[in-house]
Formats: sequence, structure tokens, C-alpha cells
Amino acid sequence: METRISMSHISSEKLADLIVSKLIYSVENIEGCRFDKETNEIVVDHSSSDQRAEIEIVARQLMFREQSYRAFSTKILKSNLTEVPVPNLHEDLSNVYSPNHNVKRGIALQLYDSLNELLQKVASKHTVDKRKYSSLIATKDLKRCGYIRSFPQNLFMVSEFPHQLESLDQVKEVEKIDSIARQSQFTLSTATCMHFYAELADSEIVTPLVITADSNCFRHEAPWRLSNYRLNEFAMKEIVVIGEPTFVEAKRHELIEEVWELFCEMGLSGKIETASDLFYYSDDTGKSQHQVVKSLKYELIAVIRSGTESFSIASFNNTRSSLVNSFGITDPSNPNLHSGCIAFGLDRWVYAILSSFGSVPSSWPYKLRELLL
Ligand SMILES: [Zn+2]
Repeated sequence: METRISMSHISSEKLADLIVSKLIYSVENIEGCRFDKETNEIVVDHSSSDQRAEIEIVARQLMFREQSYRAFSTKILKSNLTEVPVPNLHEDLSNVYSPNHNVKRGIALQLYDSLNELLQKVASKHTVDKRKYSSLIATKDLKRCGYIRSFPQNLFMVSEFPHQLESLDQVKEVEKIDSIARQSQFTLSTATCMHFYAELADSEIVTPLVITADSNCFRHEAPWRLSNYRLNEFAMKEIVVIGEPTFVEAKRHELIEEVWELFCEMGLSGKIETASDLFYYSDDTGKSQHQVVKSLKYELIAVIRSGTESFSIASFNNTRSSLVNSFGITDPSNPNLHSGCIAFGLDRWVYAILSSFGSVPSSWPYKLRELLL
């Protein structure tokens, strides 16, 4: 069944999209949530009629909280959507992906390895040092930079059983485990670059400094949204840049040009546009608007399946002084220190290619085969 919530009193489609994106994380056990432009309504799919009242109340609360929202238009930096036809592939890719999105096989794996190598080559031209980080990050590090305060909806906290004879003896009784588990000091990593800031915390460094880092990252997604590109666990490669403001911004734009050229060479369809992070609390909405107005975040959006699906496969972020300041990172010879990162979602690149050109490499465009096989 569906519950429809009228948005006719709301002037901006962007505000409706914002409310949808927060509603997704604000009511559990729903099965879908979208904005219907034709009727100007938010449509929530759910299985039980008991949920209707909760959905309506939460949607109204979210609308009330976002009263001061002002819409700013998205700036499109690059687009090949008018020149390159969006592929209309009907292959369901069940030969390479399992229905629960937990398994990749065959060409999806091969493509993952060669894309990793190709993007590493792009990164290595700019960086001197590499890192491979663990999947766990100390919760105190995420608290320190305000991540938990800003994005609680994304987090998987890690729990553990106490190393005590009595507790471990009780674990044998499986139904008791929830009451025995306690929160550990770790959270599953949400963004690769956070590890680098934590590594440099409270130290003096020499800039400019540019490194490449890899790690798996995790997001607590609403179960109904999981797909071959929206995963709870995914591989992220980041180039992290620390230096003078002009250096960070120049490096970001240099990488935008290079990555866009590579994306077009592969024959993929899409665009690069300004974007913002989903700060959960409404008193932080100004921060996401600031990101858009000041073009602090660009996303590379892959458009697939005749334009019916689109998703970000890379982001180009200028975080200014916010992260170096929160982690106490300084350079005595450069008091005005900024930082930024370029992040690649490797699993999303793989899916963008397979959903555009299929799982049979011999039918891929020549240039793509040359780059990746
Ligand atoms: Zn980052």
C-alpha cells in the first residue's frame, strides 16, 4: 500500500527531494519513498496500514524542521548527455551479481581489478605516498570531526562481547546475545580519508601533501534501497590533498579534468555537477547549502539504462580548513592550511560499465576494451 503526502504548499522541488532523502532514514520498515513530480506528492510504500500515521507525522515534522530551507540551483560543470546516447541495455546482469548484492562474479571481478589499477595510475601521477586502511575506525576520531553529529544515519557501530568469563559463558545461550553485547570503541569506516586525518592528528606536517588511500567503507542503508550500486559495504579509493587554499583547489580541478576525460573515453554517459552531503539535522542544512553555493562538492554522475537510473561514481571535495582544524593538523610554514579529497566508488564504476555495455567484453566499445582488458 502507499501513503501520499501532499507537497503543494512547498514551492521548491529541491526541498521535496530533501524531505524524501531524510524520510528514507526516519521511518523503518517502509518499502519505498519517492517524490511524484506530476501530483506534487511524496509517495511512501509500506506493507502495514498501522504505519500510515507514523509516516504522516514524521513527514510533517521534517517539513516543519526545514522551514528555513532556501533552494540553490545545481551547477553543471560537464555533461556529455546531449552528445552521447545513454545506453539502453536490457541485460539483468544476474550472471555476475547475486540478488542480495553480496556477490560479484566473473567479469565484475576482473573489471574491479583493472579499474582499481587504472584509477591508481591516475592517482599515482599526483601522489607520492599510498595507504591501505582498515575497515574499523576509532569512534573518537569520527566524533572529533563532527561526522557522528552530522551523519548518524550512515553509521554502523561495532559491538563486542566483554572479555569476561561470565559474559562469554552466557553467549552460549544464543537468545541472550543482544543483552551481553556492548558498544566497542570502533565504528565501521565511512570514508577513507578520515583515516588519514586521524593518522596525522595533532602533528606538524610539511605541505603540499598528496596521498592515495584505499579502504572498504560502510553505510547503513535502508534495506529496500540496496542495489548493485548502493551497497552496505563498498571499496573506496581516495586522493587526499593538503596544502595552501589555491593548491587544493587547483589539484581538485586538475583531477576533475582528468577523470572526466577518462569517463568520456570509456564511452560512459553522465555529468559532473555541484552536490551536497545529507546532513541529517535541520540546523545543519545551511552547511549543505553552503557546499552547493560555494561549489565545495562536485559529483560525477553516471547515467544508465536510457536515463532511468543515475548515481554518483566519484566526488571532488574541497573541505577547506574544517578537517585539518578539527584534527589539529598544522604546517608551521603555511598557517592557512586547507584540504580536500577526490573519492572513487570502485564498485559503482564497475556497475556503471556493466549496466552500460553488458557482461560480454567482446561487445564493449573498442576504447573501453583497450583501457580495461
Ligand atoms: Zn574524503
